[in-house]
Amino acid sequence: MSDLGQRLEELAELGLERRTRLIEGPQGPQVLLDGRPVVLLCSNNYLGLAAHPQVRQAAAEAALQFGVGAGASRLVSGTMSVHRQLEQALAEFEGTEACVLFGSGYLANMGVIGALVGSGDLIFSDALNHASIVDGCRLSRAQVLVYRHLDLEHLEHLLAQHRGRDGRRLIVTDSVFSMDGDLAPLVELVELAKRHGARLVVDEAHATGALGPGGRGALAAAGLEGEPDAIVGTLGKALGSYGAYVCASAETVRYLVNVARALIFSTAPPPPAIAAASAALDLMQRRPQLIGDLHLAAGTLRRELRTQGFAAGDGDMHIVPLVVRDARAAMALCEAAIERGIFAQAIRPPTVPAGSSRLRLTAMATHTPQQMQSAALVLREAAMQVGLDPTLIGEPARMALAASA
Ligand code: PMP
Repeated sequence: MSDLGQRLEELAELGLERRTRLIEGPQGPQVLLDGRPVVLLCSNNYLGLAAHPQVRQAAAEAALQFGVGAGASRLVSGTMSVHRQLEQALAEFEGTEACVLFGSGYLANMGVIGALVGSGDLIFSDALNHASIVDGCRLSRAQVLVYRHLDLEHLEHLLAQHRGRDGRRLIVTDSVFSMDGDLAPLVELVELAKRHGARLVVDEAHATGALGPGGRGALAAAGLEGEPDAIVGTLGKALGSYGAYVCASAETVRYLVNVARALIFSTAPPPPAIAAASAALDLMQRRPQLIGDLHLAAGTLRRELRTQGFAAGDGDMHIVPLVVRDARAAMALCEAAIERGIFAQAIRPPTVPAGSSRLRLTAMATHTPQQMQSAALVLREAAMQVGLDPTLIGEPARMALAASA
């Protein structure tokens, strides 16, 4: 057996092998999964805009008007009128002077982190930051200091420990953490960054279109519009498309355009995807009730899960992690739920820390209360089928409470 085959076998033995699953037809609250109709409970298409008629129309029209590919990187001949228009709209939306589009959120984090710090500099990064931030930190060649998740005291301790050292410093955080659905202490992070002369980058991937007035994100919800040195957002989640952006001061954006390698050395995002995101941004701002619907759906899901005995909280954040702990058990629960028509992919290491494998459920504005009710019931039945106790499956905060009670 080759070394690759051997490694694959090891992964399978640990319950960590991954494979793609096939969705036929458009994305929605219900999809065809490997030929079977299921309620989709693990998509980041939070507002259901990925297949909205007006968003599809915008993509189709852009394809006809501009073609499919941008043909080159942004700095050669890949900046087209659709890119410029969306950049202007996003800067206004985020309350910053300027914006620059990237190919994806992964690339945006690579680009912005690597541009703002380098060898000899310091990064302070939350332990549960998204992999694209982790990889951006590694690639930057700065020294990375990881602070315990949401732990401001630990962060301050690390900042103080390295006070007086030469080099730039950068604090970087998700605003809504992708796998836990909890919020970074943004007000305190802005204050700490200022006090310690650090730059602050906030990744709003899961907050744009889901939190704050008009979907302006967790920063806007906390009254911090324009405060961080750079805001990263993706077009691939609530905005239903593909691509990403960084919003910042005009000077910072000018700097990124000159220095961010992920921008300079990658083809500009395709015009239909950008036009679709523009249409989605427009729709979202004209229909704020979509965001209300998302939180109603999330609240209903949690209520139904509690009714079925799961240790779900009572909030209305759209990400609802049900921690099972063991990777194989999480996978078994996921498969048993799919058999019964509910699709919530099991999330395992390295996406989450070892021993915290989970089903990461996500609500969509377009889910019905009936879908949430039947999802919770099915998850209970599936848990029983694979020998798991629903009361021992739930959200991290609840699980910690249960453990310390
Ligand atoms: N940041 C966070 C917090 C994310 O969750 C993700 C995607 N899961 C990304 C960045 C990457 O965004 P994209 O999918 O546009 O590459």
